[in-house]
Amino acid sequence: MGRHIKAMETNETLLSRSLSLIPGGVHSPVRSFKGLNEKPVFMEGGKGAYIYDVEGRDYIDFCMSFGPLILGHGDPAVKEALEEQLTRGWSYGTCEPYSLKLTDFLLSRLPLEQIRFVNSGTEAVMTALRLARAYTRRDKIIKFSGCYHGHTDAMLIKAGSGLAGTTEASSAGVPPAVAADTLIFELGDLEDVRKTFARYSGQIAAVIIEPLPANNGLLPQEREFLQELRSISQENGTLLIFDEVISGFRIGFGGIMEDLQIAPDIVTYGKIIGGGLPVGAVASSAEIMEQMAPIGDVYQAGTLSAGPLAMVAGLATLEQLTPEAYSKLEKQSGQIARTFKHWLANYQGGIFSSFEVISKHSLFWITSKRANFKDLFSTLLSKGIYLAPSAYEVGFVSLAHDERVIGELEKRLWGGQIN
Ligand SMILES: *Cc1c(COP(=O)(O)O)cnc(C)c1O
Repeated sequence: MGRHIKAMETNETLLSRSLSLIPGGVHSPVRSFKGLNEKPVFMEGGKGAYIYDVEGRDYIDFCMSFGPLILGHGDPAVKEALEEQLTRGWSYGTCEPYSLKLTDFLLSRLPLEQIRFVNSGTEAVMTALRLARAYTRRDKIIKFSGCYHGHTDAMLIKAGSGLAGTTEASSAGVPPAVAADTLIFELGDLEDVRKTFARYSGQIAAVIIEPLPANNGLLPQEREFLQELRSISQENGTLLIFDEVISGFRIGFGGIMEDLQIAPDIVTYGKIIGGGLPVGAVASSAEIMEQMAPIGDVYQAGTLSAGPLAMVAGLATLEQLTPEAYSKLEKQSGQIARTFKHWLANYQGGIFSSFEVISKHSLFWITSKRANFKDLFSTLLSKGIYLAPSAYEVGFVSLAHDERVIGELEKRLWGGQIN
């Protein structure tokens, strides 16, 4: 009881108050459980691989705040760093040593010369696009469908329903003029990308891609495709932006850039880089980065950018991401994927027999051929297993999903049946 926010605040009362005060009851749409059979569950705590709802139930968490919590909830070292920083203060709006520590740590391990911290992945992408446009003095951006780059206007674009090659906003409120400068292609479609470079010769500022698309299921790309994008953009004086907001520090420390040995011109980070506090980052060569104010004419700023709490949480997280940690994460993820698959392939009644678990590094995706994600989500929720509440979201494994948690997962999935 002591843990609960307020006696008598049930999930139902919290939800009804939220619905009248907050659009859709949420501060980010996926949290609303739209399209599912369940009502949103209000969570009030997390420890290791578990989250706790306001009515005292616990769940093995595979959402992990949509990725940032690679160490699990409430990691002791992150907590200690935060507590220590709290005694010193949490925002100065001045130069401070904490972001420099994190910068040193990152730039000594990544093939990048300069970094600037912002407050989210969206902001990082917005800044990267502005930098690319300024650097090339061009306007057009190539993006791929299925890749998510946050909610900046230029990225809320989909293929047009009219003429081939046209694009339109995927959100109301984005002007057609903005949509017109974003060109959309299918992942893997080099032919159309090449044609477009020929057609808009000298007009394309940047190609942006999630080098491991993980916002529309998990769609690993061929190295050749990414390498070819590198070559085409280079030949055309276009900058290649890798949006590593999910893949950075997850697919190994250096993300896809390191894994596949492909050097983009600009990289964006988010999620893990702040260890669960709001941090995004844009990083590149000094030449590109120094276009930014106060040196150059690209304006970019942030009242709370590089906030000391976020900086120390990020560093305390990243410091633990050793090669051994990645091996452990990889091993645990494989076990978890097998545990799900085993169950899914054998679930009584065969309801979920056509689900497939695709896992890559510590991301997995449960796809269904016949059955509904809705049903799967409800069943898992009732068994105390929390997935991100959308069929398109991947699952995230953390270092806290250890042998004990995997044993518990097996028990919850199987309900004690002998397999
Ligand atoms: C999450 C995500 C973003 C947006 O980051 P926010 O912090 O939610 O603004 C951008 N790009 C990719 C690849 C992401 O996964």
